[in-house]
Amino acid sequence: MRFDIISVLPELLESPLNHSIMKRAKDKGLLEVYLHQLRDYATGKHKQVDDYQFGGGAGMVMKPEPIAACIEQLMSERNYDEIIYTSPDGQCLDQQLCNRLSMKQNVIILCGHYKGIDERIRQKYITMEISIGDYVLSGGELAAAVLVDSIGRLIPGVLNDETSALFDSFQDDLLAPPVYTRPAEWEGMKVPDVLLSGHEKMIDDWRHDQSMERTKARRPDLWERFQNGV
Ligand code: SAH
Repeated sequence: MRFDIISVLPELLESPLNHSIMKRAKDKGLLEVYLHQLRDYATGKHKQVDDYQFGGGAGMVMKPEPIAACIEQLMSERNYDEIIYTSPDGQCLDQQLCNRLSMKQNVIILCGHYKGIDERIRQKYITMEISIGDYVLSGGELAAAVLVDSIGRLIPGVLNDETSALFDSFQDDLLAPPVYTRPAEWEGMKVPDVLLSGHEKMIDDWRHDQSMERTKARRPDLWERFQNGV
């Protein structure tokens, strides 16, 4: 899968996408991420990418021309399945959406800044608008990093244990059960006996029960979905 990320601050994305699982995915050739500095597509002496807002008011707006030039350049090189704009007013990211997006081949992510981007870019190019939660970031880069990480780890072969993503929280509308490692007793607290029993069926049942208990207690909305099987 290939991501092309358009940003005025691509440096912000270098560290999160170059370590751990994301790095491994890239090294294995399963994930490609290209960062594009929007300013390189701006014209004029000052390479301006933002301008005052029509109608007045505080805050700058990202100009349409450099964004269009960058997207057009990318679109002339390959076909894109989605052109995503990270935005607080977009569809809220969840595991189902990550699953769907992990099937795509080529995806552009456009990171906004300031007050956001000129609305006409959204009308002309953007195929999907995604929010990572009901709060406002100062730029789209952290949202882009969240997207690439949460989608990238679902690409088959990225995680070492092929099945491990299947048991993460949300995959089946249930939260994950508690996990323990050594020592078996720490500060007077013992790991539940069943996990030390070596009895696979009992362990699976225990984990499933714990997942259900946790979901019921913490996320009644997910619990309802799980029960209704939707
Ligand atoms: N004025 C806008 C916020 C602009 S914040 C509004 O009120 O909706 C600047 C940029 O940060 C946005 O263009 C977007 O790309 C990014 N951003 C902020 N919050 C985000 C969120 N919750 N999810 C995804 N991107 C976000």
